[in-house]
Amino acid sequence: MTAHVPGGAPVIGLDLGGTKIAAALVAADGTVLARHSLPTPATAGAEAVLDALAREVRAVWTPAAAAVGVAAAGVIDPVGGTVTSATDTIRGWAGTALATGLAARTGLPVACDNDVRAAAATELSGPHADGNETGTTLIYAAVGTGVGGAVAVDGRMLHGAAGIAGHLGHLPSPEAEGLPCTCGAIGHLEAIAAGPGITAHYTRTSGLPADRLETVAARAAEGEPHATAAIVLGARAVGRALGGLANALGAHRVVVGGGVPRIGARYLDALNTAFAAELMPPLRKLRPVPPRGGTDAAVLGAAALTRTLPLHHPHTTGAPR
Ligand SMILES: [Zn+2]
Repeated sequence: MTAHVPGGAPVIGLDLGGTKIAAALVAADGTVLARHSLPTPATAGAEAVLDALAREVRAVWTPAAAAVGVAAAGVIDPVGGTVTSATDTIRGWAGTALATGLAARTGLPVACDNDVRAAAATELSGPHADGNETGTTLIYAAVGTGVGGAVAVDGRMLHGAAGIAGHLGHLPSPEAEGLPCTCGAIGHLEAIAAGPGITAHYTRTSGLPADRLETVAARAAEGEPHATAAIVLGARAVGRALGGLANALGAHRVVVGGGVPRIGARYLDALNTAFAAELMPPLRKLRPVPPRGGTDAAVLGAAALTRTLPLHHPHTTGAPR
């Protein structure tokens, strides 16, 4: 393994999600030179997904392409190049030798990491960085069907033991007291603040069934008090946890992304208020912001992995087969 891509060479970024694989050929200056996407063969197993990733590489490939960066769902070990663990969204995905499997299929060196960390990496540079000498300390939360995240300290992304750094959803949360978490523990943030957690809390308190968060959000918009309370509680739990972390790490920048914050202003107001209430005096001006986003953020983050993470090399190099 080496961590060097020839200066100035374009690289290929792949964003692997449960429904879609997006690919881009990215120039050294961040310009997207080519794009392609296709559906993820999620039910066909890991080998089929690796084959599909290789097809996406071929779709945007140029002879100058120096490496491939893959941002993938699940817990990814960038050093081993493997999928440490994953949900069943992609059948048989846990344990997959992602980097070597794709390197063997394409003849190109491959770097990989989880999708949230790749997206967060795009927040570390560019015009919004605060220009301090050691680099940005960033807390990036992704609140959706789970609560994921990424943490960078002084400009360096944390991976930690077994690659699990950034799992913000598994912080203890007073709002989640007594609730079982997906990880097997009790009282973690995710249990009250992820979309399913908010929906379940609404059902518990109202006695009314709700299939998904959008249903709860619609009832809150109609003034249903239990729906409003469940959304505000989830938002407050995230705000408090992020405020505490900001104090602990000395955060310069806090980003809140994912699907849940998009349910409306009431959610973000509650989150911001709870966040601000936790801050120590030197951080008082800090407020969470949405991701910079843009339609290319995921593939750009994936491409950037080739410049910061170990590259897993194929045994032979050349044009992708
Ligand atoms: Zn947990």
